[in-house]
Amino acid sequence: MPEPTLIDGYRDSLWMSTGSDAPATESLQESLDCDVVIVGAGFTGLNAALKLATSGVRVCVLEAGDLGVGSSGRSGGQVNLGLNLGPSALIKKFGVKTGEQLIQTVAAAPNHVFNLIREHNLQCDPVQNGWVQAAVNERLMDAQQHLAEEYVRHGVTMELLDKDELEIRTGTTAYSGGMFCPVAGSLQPLSYTRELARTALEKGAQIYTRSAVNQLQKQANGWRVDTDKGQVRCEQVLICTNAYSDSVVSGLAQLVVPLRTILIASEPLSDNLRSTILPEQITFVDKRRLILYFRYDRNGRLCVGDHGPVRDEFKLSDFELLKKRAIKVFPALASVRWDFHWGGRVAMTKDSLPFLHRISPGLTAGMGYNGRGVAMGSMMGTILADSVLGTPDEELGFPLTQPDKYKMHAFRDIGVSVALKWYTLRDYLESV
Ligand SMILES: Cc1cc2nc3c(=O)[nH]c(=O)nc-3n(C[C@H](O)[C@H](O)[C@H](O)COP(=O)(O)OP(=O)(O)OC[C@H]3O[C@@H](n4cnc5c(N)ncnc54)[C@H](O)[C@@H]3O)c2cc1C
Repeated sequence: MPEPTLIDGYRDSLWMSTGSDAPATESLQESLDCDVVIVGAGFTGLNAALKLATSGVRVCVLEAGDLGVGSSGRSGGQVNLGLNLGPSALIKKFGVKTGEQLIQTVAAAPNHVFNLIREHNLQCDPVQNGWVQAAVNERLMDAQQHLAEEYVRHGVTMELLDKDELEIRTGTTAYSGGMFCPVAGSLQPLSYTRELARTALEKGAQIYTRSAVNQLQKQANGWRVDTDKGQVRCEQVLICTNAYSDSVVSGLAQLVVPLRTILIASEPLSDNLRSTILPEQITFVDKRRLILYFRYDRNGRLCVGDHGPVRDEFKLSDFELLKKRAIKVFPALASVRWDFHWGGRVAMTKDSLPFLHRISPGLTAGMGYNGRGVAMGSMMGTILADSVLGTPDEELGFPLTQPDKYKMHAFRDIGVSVALKWYTLRDYLESV
């Protein structure tokens, strides 16, 4: 039997071949003092670093691997509304005042990203042509309609597309319609990560890569953060490790379950195909329990994503089902070559929401984006920075919470495996 082709979920991604250059960084080899240490250099940590450095705070980012090696550099790059729960669910959970603040934070998240890109001239292929969440049957269409109406009631622009309008705007006849969010879009996620890092460095942040934090110690007037070959003393620590959280902060990893998601990118599509498949370069999500998502890159390659296997190593065969699902939505893809295959982890939480969690005074974590961290992680980074800069907790735009632990976390892979089978069956039964 020939060996299955193994995929490196980071290095084999499309983004590696079109990414802007990474700024030069080194690993930490000394003892430093600063105001704030940020653990993790993805969208969350780097947005926090940029804002803090711009505000004159001495900030030091410590990243275990290279820039973007976590979810950020592998992401699908869809910049969308960032939460899986809609307005009424948020108000039910948090009450009117906090729920309303949260709705406005979520609605502002895509523009936060695109404005930041413009403000700092980040070279990361932004496209703000909107995002559609499509419904595969009438029941899900009703749900999309309710959701769109709820957003509109809270002042958030959202349109409803019926079956015909959806076909005109996206080229697929496979759906009953969908909800369209005009402020959303896409970007090149590895470039966005590297450009955030470059800009944060220019503003005075220090960023060390290949510098895994292996110990955090509370001291009389702050914290000591240790890596293999260095240490940093600081007043505050921000933990931005999301689905790649390890045991450095006791109990943190038990707050998220890593789910794998995989992506493929086609050869550059001909003008003819591009005029029939997502002709307006809208980003697209099939909103089922197991979502399917589409977008173009700057060279006209169509990127399609789906859930992945319950492990971090991928084989070429893991991507076969995804290709079949993509062809079902756009049959013209049957003759297309798929040039790139990759994937990584997303962090799921018990209540399907991200969390801003003050673990102890001066130690705060922001994470748990449930697969929607491009806009929301960026927003969370800014919120973490605001909290360091003295914004009162009730004005942060995101509530501080004590997230629930997964009780059987040690058996998470078995749980995920069973849930994926169950969701696959239910999605199938709903679509026939
Ligand atoms: C394949 C894929 C597709 C996705 N598609 C989308 C999408 O289209 N739209 C969307 O909104 N979201 C998407 N997501 C989710 C999104 O990418 C994430 O939510 C987001 O990148 C999280 O950013 P982050 O900065 O919080 O975490 P990460 O980018 O994961 O960064 C965390 C970093 O912490 C580092 N770290 C961990 N432990 C330590 C330690 N002890 N010391 C130092 N560093 C440490 C890790 O190395 C990692 O680099 C996708 C994710 C994947 C994997």
